[in-house]
Amino acid sequence: MEIIVAEDSGSCFGVRRALEMAQEATAQAGDVYSLGPLIHNRQVVEELETRGLQVVQSVQEIPSGSVGMIRAHGAGPEVYEIAEARQIRLIDATCPFVKRVQQEAARFVQAGYQLLVLGEPDHPEPQAIAGHAHGQAVIVQGPADLCCVDLERKVAIVCQTTQRLADLQELVEAVLPHVQELRIANTICHATTSRQKAALALTDEVDLMIVIGGYHSANTTRLAQICAATGILTHHIETADEINPAWLDGMQRVGITAGASTPTEAIEAVVARLRGSAEA
Ligand code: SF4
Repeated sequence: MEIIVAEDSGSCFGVRRALEMAQEATAQAGDVYSLGPLIHNRQVVEELETRGLQVVQSVQEIPSGSVGMIRAHGAGPEVYEIAEARQIRLIDATCPFVKRVQQEAARFVQAGYQLLVLGEPDHPEPQAIAGHAHGQAVIVQGPADLCCVDLERKVAIVCQTTQRLADLQELVEAVLPHVQELRIANTICHATTSRQKAALALTDEVDLMIVIGGYHSANTTRLAQICAATGILTHHIETADEINPAWLDGMQRVGITAGASTPTEAIEAVVARLRGSAEA
């Protein structure tokens, strides 16, 4: 059985940067409080806990005068204000590409545009983006959500960095006939697009796709959806332990891709497990 890893897969610049910042912060300060899990990868978060990175759900839970950390997804402006008032030193690991979306959102709202954020309403990244738009943004998952939006004359669209280009195009087509002016900032991250393209290309060459990454990871889930939508048998797993040898029966070629928060070691572990199963 041949195992092919997608040309572009696994941890991205923003995630690697956040991890390095967390490792440095815990080495220097000991206890550091992360606003939500640093990345959507349970195994990595557990390892960071052993170094002193504690996960809290809100800035109010961080003890005054201690060190807090904003993850790559970013945070709304109120988090920075509360941290300053409570003398919490914030280490800001917001990915620069996410910062750019926040800035675009603020710029559009200041210029008088009604802002739509294409993204998942319960995901922290679009929530933070909406926060930087002074609460004047509407998060939509696609054209179906427009039924609840009273579109204004001037509309702008930005996207959660992990969205699919096809979904942005669909939203643009749905909005355009109803507005006089439409501005679009394609804020989909290159790491997302290139991983999606590489995964899609690989589906043509293999009998089975295995997608590695956290179940709560938006970009990993999207990769699994993209692969499955081609009709190829696709399994989304977090770790090598979840591989069922029966999946490999009759398979000649197995493709692997991984989300932007999946460390290289997790990919290597899956490859090793697949090789072991094939040889057994
Ligand atoms: S996927 Fe892109 S935007 Fe998100 S953390 Fe990685 S590099 Fe940054």
